[in-house]
Amino acid sequence: MLDKFVDVQNISMNYHSTNGETEAIKDVSFDIANGEFVSIIGPSGCGKSTLLSIINGLVKPSGGNVFIKGMPMFDMPPGLWQDMKQPSRAEIGYMLQRDCLFEWRSIYENAILGLEIQKKMTERNLAYADELLAQYGLGEFKTYKPSELSGGMRQRVALIRTLSTKPELLLLDEPFSALDYQTRLFIADEVGTILKKEKKTAILVTHDISEAISLSDRIIVLTKRPATIRNIHQISIGTDNRTPMKSREAPEFRKYFNKIWKELDVHV
Ligand code: ADP
Ligand code: MG
Repeated sequence: MLDKFVDVQNISMNYHSTNGETEAIKDVSFDIANGEFVSIIGPSGCGKSTLLSIINGLVKPSGGNVFIKGMPMFDMPPGLWQDMKQPSRAEIGYMLQRDCLFEWRSIYENAILGLEIQKKMTERNLAYADELLAQYGLGEFKTYKPSELSGGMRQRVALIRTLSTKPELLLLDEPFSALDYQTRLFIADEVGTILKKEKKTAILVTHDISEAISLSDRIIVLTKRPATIRNIHQISIGTDNRTPMKSREAPEFRKYFNKIWKELDVHV
């Protein structure tokens, strides 16, 4: 129980619209340990973003529940947990494909936006944001506007904005897919290294198999819609001081790649 930082239990999701019902997710369960980096991979449109929004509490599932540190994200039927104290929601950071930086704000003002919104602009937190900017090569760009930065740098600002609120859990929804190939490799590796160093629990949604293998401790492969769990892979790459870059060069890499490639059934 204590080991389950995130516990996804029997999640189902049906969307209702004028065109009828879309079954997006069907009975998905898994759990994630503290400090673990897990990727969710699956065909486009299978329900990955929906699943992440449910874990974040933004979308209410049709069935099932998500527990963060043992506390339910969604209300339980009366009687099931009435002696439990009011859920203390964990701090969750969310990072999307679009970097969502505001052009009228400087890089610094964008980086501290999360702190501002959450009313956490203490001296200590602001110093931490400053430290992250300096550490990750943005110290000299604090007064710049987002349009003056490259796509990779902007994505790094978005990550720092997310990290500066010190979330316990990070949810990343295809955060690199808008970047060109070279930048994507570089930033994905960099973000992976940053998150390891800051010891974050993270869930990454991606459709890039290489990205998933290089970054993850575990990979959850989903089927096409409605998403169910196809398989879960424990990624063990036997290099010392594993970094995303080293993982890509490891002999085990190809083995995982081929297995997951087949499971994704891209031709069906
Ligand atoms: P993925 O992120 O894997 O590409 P999504 O979770 O975005 O997939 O979508 C899964 C399915 O649910 C798709 O068929 C999509 O059209 C549908 N869907 C997503 N959001 C909504 C919504 N708000 N209303 C109705 N249908 C939706
Ligand atoms: Mg999506």
